[in-house]
Order: sequence, then structure tokens, then C-alpha cells
Amino acid sequence: MSNSSQCRVCGGTVTEFFDFGRQPLSDAFHKPDADFEQEFFFRLAVGLCDTCTMVQLMEEVPRDRMFNEEYPYFSSGSAYMRTHFESLAKHLLSAELTGDDPFVVEMGCNDGVMLKTIADAGVRHLGVEPSGSVADVAAAKGVRVRKSFFEESTAREILAEEGPADVIYAANTLCHIPYMDSILTGVATLLRPTGVFVFEDPYLGEIVARTSFDQIYDEHFYFFTLRSVQEMASRHGLELVDAERLTVHGGEVRYTLAPKGSRTPTDAMKALLAEEEAAGLTKIETLRGFGAKVEKNRDDLLELLRTAKAEGKRVVAYGATAKSATVTNLAGIGPDLVEFVCDSTPAKQGRVTPGTHIPVVESAEFANPYPDYVLLFAWNHAEEIMAKEQAFADAGGKWILYVPDVRLV
Ligand code: SAM
Repeated sequence: MSNSSQCRVCGGTVTEFFDFGRQPLSDAFHKPDADFEQEFFFRLAVGLCDTCTMVQLMEEVPRDRMFNEEYPYFSSGSAYMRTHFESLAKHLLSAELTGDDPFVVEMGCNDGVMLKTIADAGVRHLGVEPSGSVADVAAAKGVRVRKSFFEESTAREILAEEGPADVIYAANTLCHIPYMDSILTGVATLLRPTGVFVFEDPYLGEIVARTSFDQIYDEHFYFFTLRSVQEMASRHGLELVDAERLTVHGGEVRYTLAPKGSRTPTDAMKALLAEEEAAGLTKIETLRGFGAKVEKNRDDLLELLRTAKAEGKRVVAYGATAKSATVTNLAGIGPDLVEFVCDSTPAKQGRVTPGTHIPVVESAEFANPYPDYVLLFAWNHAEEIMAKEQAFADAGGKWILYVPDVRLV
């Protein structure tokens, strides 16, 4: 028997292909003495729209529960991501923001990691960011921020106050927003006829190819493909004109939409679209096959952790990421199997992980003394982290990875 829901993009039928079960809010790091009877849980399941092919969650978590004054993810925490956004900002400045008094709007600007470069260049900009914790940091850096959710009404207000945007940009944000109709109506309203809407998000093709199932959590509502992006764009007079694969966050695509007919679609976009068709990404059988691999990774990881415990090994984890909630809650990994998670975010330290309540401690605890194994939750920053922690490997420690499969390195 399969569950179904109504597609948030086209109103078609969404057929479920994997159920992650009962999951908490992935960024809700509570104090150890919190009343856990009150902890919020929902059913995390994912499905494919039979009509427009958009892969999406079956249930939506109310947005104010996730994006508020307590939101703990600060984009500037990673040096790699700072470089990534600086180079994107420079590209936009030289390729798109060249006219008379250009204007760029970013939804989900977070702590200003991208807009800081635009502000420093003296270019007119506006970040739209509902989470007060991060919006305040952006403002303190000299970035203009509007503390609200981007949606159709916000776009209309910005248009009235500031005029049309030459670039609307969103990184790791569009996939967080279930109310797509309102967003794209807003984008189409605010965008100048010669402008572009550029967004980058985790790519379903990469999630399926690498079994990176922890990209699926409360905050990630959509899992885009070029095909599903084309379908949603066309409903709002927009067209996919470029697509570029990115290595960040475990594999993303940067999509460029423009008003229909205003730009010529690139060969790179057409090639990636053909690749995607060949991979069968829009077929439910392909996605059910992905689900079977998720179950295997879950079982292999649990077995490795239980064996390590039986052998008396010390196991800790690295990176109290939002996406690790999916792993720990799917597999039932708690403090009995993982002693603590170290993380550099002060807002998470002294708290426990969502749902399975593993203590989160400051990064220095990692080496105090080194454990035998460390479960790398922040695997998307593996290169940066492993280089920084070379002394751990030199001392004989091993990393536990679970994407694309479970292994010790
Ligand atoms: N752009 C940054 C990056 O790539 O690192 C931040 C990404 S963070 C994962 C997602 C951001 O989207 C959060 O800062 C959140 O507050 C924001 N957000 C969520 N819903 C939004 C909406 N409707 N409009 C604007 N921002 C939103």
C-alpha cells in the first residue's frame, strides 16, 4: 500500500517512496534538562509527484518552528563556504550587476556570507532573512537585511520600495520553502525582464547516486532535478537557461532561471538534462531502489557502532549538523553508542542532539584525549575537516563515513 499527498508545486499526486519514521526538528538542540515529553516530532517521508516529477516531503513542518531567533546555522562557519560565496558574488558583480545602479536580492542571506562582498563593492542589495539570530549578524557586517520570510507579498513590497531586481539569488534556501507558488510568483513579479533568478540546492541526482540520505530532513522540503525545476518555472513564465554542478554540500546544482524567451538555454544545461533522463531520476522504481540502499546503510552503520562498543572502542561524532538528525533518529543512535558530538557552534554546545539526545561539546574536547573512532556527520566538509584534524589520523584514529556506504578510513 502506498501513501500519497498533493504536490505543492502542481497539485498532482505525490507517491511516497521512503519513510524515515518519526523525526524531530533537525536544528532543535535542547538543553539537557529540557522537558523531552514536549519535544516536537513529525513523520519524515518523501515522495515523487506523478505529474511534475518534483520530489518532496509528504508532510510539512510549520516554518516558524524552524526559522526563528534560535536558528543555529551560521553560514560563515566554514572557510570553504566563505570562499564559495565570495567567488559567486564576484561572478554576479562582473556578469550580471553591470548596468546602471543594479540591485540584487538574496532570500535566506543568513549571516551575510554572500552579500558582504556585494555590500563592500557598493552595489545596492537586500537580504531577506527570517531567522533573527543570523540576520542580526549580517546587519552588523553592514549588509542591508529585511527580517522576514520571502514570499509573494514581500516581493511586492520590495518592488514598490526599491524597484525591480537584476538578480534574485538563493543558496540552500529554495529547497526549504514548501510554498513554491508564492515564491515563484514573487520572483516573477520582482525580477527585471532582463534579470535572472539564480539558486543552488542539493541535487537529487547526487543524493541518489551517493545514497546521501541525510540530505532529507525537515528543513529540506524539495529535492530538485533539472526536469522538475523546468516544470515549476514554466508555471510562472520563467525558463531554466543554465545549470551547473557544484561540489559544495555533498553535490549541488546552481540553476539559472530567466523570463521565458529572454535568454538562450546553454548546452551545459541540455547535457545535464539528458544525463538526468538516462539516470531515471523521475521514475519511482529508481527512487525505491535508493530507499533499499538507505536501509542497508542504516543497518551497516548500526552494526559497526555496536561492534565498536562491544570491542571497548571510544566513539565520538564530529559536526552537530542538521542532517545528522536523520541518521541518528533513523538508526536509533544515542549516547549509548556515541559518547558526544563536537561542534564549533556556541549555540549548540552544552545542548543535546535532536531526538536521540547525544551531548554536544566544544571542538577542543575532540582531542581530549582522541577517541578510537569518530563518526563524521559533517561529511560534506570531509576534506576541510580531515586536513584540519590530521593529528587524529596520525595518532591512529579512524573516521567512520556512511556516504555513499559505511566504512572506516
Ligand atoms: N544562504 C545560506 C547558505 O547557503 O549558507 C543560508 C542557508 S540556510 C541552510 C537556509 C536559510 O533560509 C536560513 O537562514 C533560513 O532562515 C532561511 N529561510 C527559510 N525560509 C525562508 C524564506 N521564506 N525566505 C527567506 N529566507 C528563508
